[in-house]
Amino acid sequence: MLFDENPTPQSGEKGLVGIARLAASSDLLEAKRQVHYLELETRRFIGRGSGRMCDIWTINPYRGCEYGCKYCYARYAHEFMELRDPELFERKIYAKQFQALAFRAEVRRLKLGDTVWIGTATDPYQPAERRFEITRQMLAVFAQERGLDLGLTTKSDFVARDAALMAQIACKNKIRVHITITTLDERLARLLEPRAPRPALRLAAIQKLTEAGVPVSVLAHPVMPLINDSEESLDRICAAAARNGASSFSAAPLFLKPCSAQVFLPFLEAQFPHLARRYRERFEKSAYLRGHYPEMIAERVQRIRARHRMAERRPPEWPLPGDAFEDQLALFPAMTKGPDAAVAARRTGTLQRKANLL
Ligand code: SF4
Repeated sequence: MLFDENPTPQSGEKGLVGIARLAASSDLLEAKRQVHYLELETRRFIGRGSGRMCDIWTINPYRGCEYGCKYCYARYAHEFMELRDPELFERKIYAKQFQALAFRAEVRRLKLGDTVWIGTATDPYQPAERRFEITRQMLAVFAQERGLDLGLTTKSDFVARDAALMAQIACKNKIRVHITITTLDERLARLLEPRAPRPALRLAAIQKLTEAGVPVSVLAHPVMPLINDSEESLDRICAAAARNGASSFSAAPLFLKPCSAQVFLPFLEAQFPHLARRYRERFEKSAYLRGHYPEMIAERVQRIRARHRMAERRPPEWPLPGDAFEDQLALFPAMTKGPDAAVAARRTGTLQRKANLL
């Protein structure tokens, strides 16, 4: 059994600090077949982004994501809670303990024109939202505000539940929903994103949102070489997005941080063995694909956008080629020994601060 661990604190957890301590002492809310839902005490709901995201605010109502996308780059967030098995990211889901008054007070401290992004590290409309409705409660608070610039990223058709609420927010604020669709091939989608809603359902959600007056962007991210990167495949997504009312379309190549590679590369060995060696070679030294490939994809996507008269919009969490990824290595013991220890310790500190924002 993978998930029969007791979520209550064990004696070995006494030495944990910060978010790891809170996670270890979280109350079990519900155990589904293979997924545990837990409640996480939260000091702050709205965090400041870092790096290129330093001028935006981020909100993640949940930690962990049940959809279990094989390429997910957010798995590292569970490592801050000392949950180092990357699979636990999709099996142990933490719902932040929502307090409307405290959240409203944080929202009131935002300034006119501030950008707030919901779902930078986990999906705000994953199955947990059906039960806990934290995203919805947060949106209800935003509906009372004015002058904010809200963005939301999801892979779930359940987002359409809140179309009316978002339309209400749009009366006094800017709001845009970004829906990820990596392929229209349902079999491939099931392999890559095992528990996410089918692409056809996501398209239906785009239609419902846009009919309600909520602008929608479609993200074909990540683009994976020789898996979903053909012009035909990307064009089909863009065409379907346009038909259903989306106004922009963007796509960017896969990046594989160490935490994602631990899941994605074995997945490739099992499902696309003919590609595994090439991927390993390309991602061995860098989390990012460099050189001709990203340029080719950028040109391809630009052509497709022009064909369907779509705009471009990138969500803030997408890294640009050349972004540092080395700080991820600090999460691995080898980096924390020898002459690099001081550097690794500083980087780990930075990551711990980032974790508090997730
Ligand atoms: S929906 Fe997003 S956060 Fe959830 S597993 Fe997939 S990539 Fe990760």
